[in-house]
Amino acid sequence: MKKTSEETSPAIDTRIVLNGLRKGAASGATFQSINPMTGAAVGTYTECSAEVVAEAVETARQAFDAKTWSAMPIGGRCQVVSKWAELLEDAVDELARLDMMEMGMPISQAKGDVTETAGYMRALCALAQSLTTEAGVTAPGSLCVNIRQPIGVVAAIAPWNFPLNQAAVKILPPLIMGNSVVLKPSEIAPASALRLADLGMDAGLPPGVLSVITGQGHTTGAALTQQQVDKITFTGSTKTGAAIQASATQSGRPLPLAMELGGKSPQIVGQSFGEVSDIAGTIANNVFWNAGQVCTAGSLLIVHEDHADALCSAIADASVAFSPADPSDPSTATGPIATRLQYDRVVAHMRAAEASGASVICGGLEATQALPGLFAAPTAYANLPGDAPLLSAEVFGPVLAIAPFKTKEEALALAVRCGYGLTATVWTKDMSEGHFFAHALPGATVTINGHAGPLPDFSGALGFEPSGRSGFGEDFGLPGLKQYTKLKLAIFNTAQ
Ligand code: NAD
Repeated sequence: MKKTSEETSPAIDTRIVLNGLRKGAASGATFQSINPMTGAAVGTYTECSAEVVAEAVETARQAFDAKTWSAMPIGGRCQVVSKWAELLEDAVDELARLDMMEMGMPISQAKGDVTETAGYMRALCALAQSLTTEAGVTAPGSLCVNIRQPIGVVAAIAPWNFPLNQAAVKILPPLIMGNSVVLKPSEIAPASALRLADLGMDAGLPPGVLSVITGQGHTTGAALTQQQVDKITFTGSTKTGAAIQASATQSGRPLPLAMELGGKSPQIVGQSFGEVSDIAGTIANNVFWNAGQVCTAGSLLIVHEDHADALCSAIADASVAFSPADPSDPSTATGPIATRLQYDRVVAHMRAAEASGASVICGGLEATQALPGLFAAPTAYANLPGDAPLLSAEVFGPVLAIAPFKTKEEALALAVRCGYGLTATVWTKDMSEGHFFAHALPGATVTINGHAGPLPDFSGALGFEPSGRSGFGEDFGLPGLKQYTKLKLAIFNTAQ
């Protein structure tokens, strides 16, 4: 494998964040993160035991009960978070380098992720300030007031595909609303989440309000979900989400959950669309961006039969821009797949599709195997048999399945049969067709003409909720903040 200058960069701080301090393990099991570009070890981390997990939850509870953060006026908490966002921007190079080294994200994209995350933090602050001033209702002789209060200790578990951003998206809404949080980032790329917590403490987060513990999912992660917390917020695969839900149910106590899970997001191109050359680049970006390791990847292209041939050829042309290269090069748009395990899964999907007789539109198994290391060629398949797993399974890699349709009812049937409900994109100039799909498609978002991502930016007050195999729980904007509060109605009978 090719060596990059990153291998000689200074050692990173892998100690966990516990009760306001970085803390090394006295002894016990460890694990390593691996640079997917070079194969070199990046960091050696503690596999936190159930005892350490319990300690983190206990310090979070103490911090919550101490009320330094939980009873701080919202303006004070937002001041801390605004400062935190500023520190993030100051550390953009360092944070981006950590995600590039551990996950293989191209450096220019990783820098954009840091800046976007800082913007998200500021936007949440603006929204949160409006929430806690919800109007009361008055009547002669009585005054009713809605009081929103934090819920307590939140366990947050994050995936690896945007390590810094996904950690921030898990922890910021509960923290801003006054909760304490114990975060377990993915074992594949924990470094940037640990630095995120450092910067939060530098900005003024009181000790214990945010702890970050490291470890594998089936050990440390499972231990975290078995603690006496007040909510679990999870982002990751459908399989893990279901396991966490089952364990929460078995605990026998009511425990609110928020689950942001996998997806197989359709991109539907209607008959009326017009020139496919206008949209092929965006369609390719929707599926190949971040090497397809995106929950909202538009990996199922359902195209009206009139456009199928032209679109296949335009997508093959557009895919060239997503050819993988060294992520440390600022001009690189796509890096390697993040781990050997994920690479093997992607290759297995390609092998199965080709064994079923699918036509290779671009990339494919041979092209991927000709590339070095964990590079996967941006790939598209057409002529898949109706029962091909690729038409309904999440790949989490740069693999697009293409299926033609004649009627919109047929397109809808193809889009819904996977059972996921995360995002969908519809390309149409016929707005009645747009309305049909906007209402009929399941999903947290349905975009008519545009990007398959959750929102054009993170500044909106609007939120969404996934459905089916993609999870549940309102997220983003005001609805996402409300998830981390309890709503109380206080009634003052002033005439008494
Ligand atoms: P994963 O489910 O393997 O792991 C996610 C996290 O859960 C990791 O921190 C892992 O250590 C932990 N974990 C694993 N087993 C656990 C257990 N038994 N108990 C508690 N924690 C456990 O997912 P991944 O491979 O890290 O991420 C990829 C998946 O995440 C994809 O399916 C993708 O679609 C999904 N994802 C969804 C969104 C969204 O917003 N819907 C965003 C990003 C990623």
